[in-house]
Amino acid sequence: MTRAPNASTPTKLTPNLGLKHRNTFGFDAVAEFAYEINSPEQIPAVMSEITSHKQKWRVLGGGSNVILPANLPGVTLLMNIIGQEIISSNSSSTLLAVGGGVNWHELVTWTLENDLPGLENLALIPGTVGAAPIQNIGAYGVEVSDYIDSIEAFDAKEQAFVTLQNEACRFAYRDSYFKQNPHRFIVTKVVFKLPKTWKARIHYADLAKQFSENSNPSPEDMFLAVCKIRTQKLPDPKVIGNAGSFFQNPVVPNEQYKTLIKTYPGLASYPDLPGKRKLAAGWLIDQCGFKGQRMGSVGVYENQALVLVNHGGGTAQDILGLAKCIQDKVHDKFGVSLQIEPNIF
Ligand code: FAD
Ligand code: NAP
Repeated sequence: MTRAPNASTPTKLTPNLGLKHRNTFGFDAVAEFAYEINSPEQIPAVMSEITSHKQKWRVLGGGSNVILPANLPGVTLLMNIIGQEIISSNSSSTLLAVGGGVNWHELVTWTLENDLPGLENLALIPGTVGAAPIQNIGAYGVEVSDYIDSIEAFDAKEQAFVTLQNEACRFAYRDSYFKQNPHRFIVTKVVFKLPKTWKARIHYADLAKQFSENSNPSPEDMFLAVCKIRTQKLPDPKVIGNAGSFFQNPVVPNEQYKTLIKTYPGLASYPDLPGKRKLAAGWLIDQCGFKGQRMGSVGVYENQALVLVNHGGGTAQDILGLAKCIQDKVHDKFGVSLQIEPNIF
């Protein structure tokens, strides 16, 4: 369909686009209209049209952190801006600019091939570069915000492109200014700052075990170890639908932690900000007996209770129904609230 409220820049929207293969849960979902963004220059015109028609809109990257309903009204913007270039390099660091639609794992691979280590603990995380800052992706003690210099985005509130430096992005644990302001920013480019000095981070138990006989792993060793552990431990969305961790790890005051550990000496937890403790949500869910359980078409993954799965034919309502059961049971047993991590569209 072609509509041209702004006659100088007609925008071609695709009606009724199926998104089953663009969300890792594999939910049947149809976008009322879809629009592929291949370059930033397309954005002002399409956003001007969306705004003048008061249409709903959202951005979809790889669909690995979303819960899609059967119908998505308005316009779904498909982020496909690709390309990466080194924009500067000095004795201490390299600045690398990357398009929002670049595949995250391919970027990590590319950085290692080009002798730019730093991102290897984040290998094999599905999705796009533009989505990485939204929840400040993290794994094995590394967060993407550790390596972000600045972000270029279209700000729908100002109808203009903006550049946000790292501090302005208000990164926190699986959180950012972008996540706090949904339906406002379209991330078109991420500029990474990769320091020239490098140190392996192997403090997570699974990695420490891999390197028990090699105290000096290279970036490539780290990359391969992370890929190996993740492949063994996590379900492949191509085989069984999932969005990775379904709940964030709750962070509780130390007093609450001290009370809990008396009753549950096996409680898996880690120090967090001063006065706080991070609890492993997967452990809490496992203790409530959910691991491997099935509820209709959806269930809890058998090897990792933090991952909810679609066995086939499940819907957003099914997964949210299961999530509610888990949240209620965990709250009843431990007095702890679990927050859903993926974005509910
Ligand atoms: P989508 O799912 O498409 O979108 C996620 C959110 O970001 C939506 O709100 C969307 O509107 C918004 N968004 C996407 N692109 C843009 C853009 N260009 N501009 C503005 N907003 C945008 N996450 C981790 O943190 N650590 C992990 O280790 C990890 N492991 C995972 C393992 C598996 C098997 C799976 C399925 C998921 C995992 N995830 C993990 C979650 C997920 O991969 C990340 O959150 C990823 O960054 C999502 O990227 P995406 O392109 O698929 O985003
Ligand atoms: P894991 O290593 O079995 O650890 C279980 C939980 O304990 C994790 O959630 C992790 O917190 C925490 N943890 C373990 N060791 C820690 C340490 N030394 N210091 C602080 N916290 C520690 O977890 P996993 O399921 O195999 O996942 C491995 C990594 O990949 C984790 O970092 C996890 O976050 C990440 N991951 C994320 C997703 C997602 O969708 N968000 C999906 C799969 C894997 P953190 O989660 O804070 O790291």
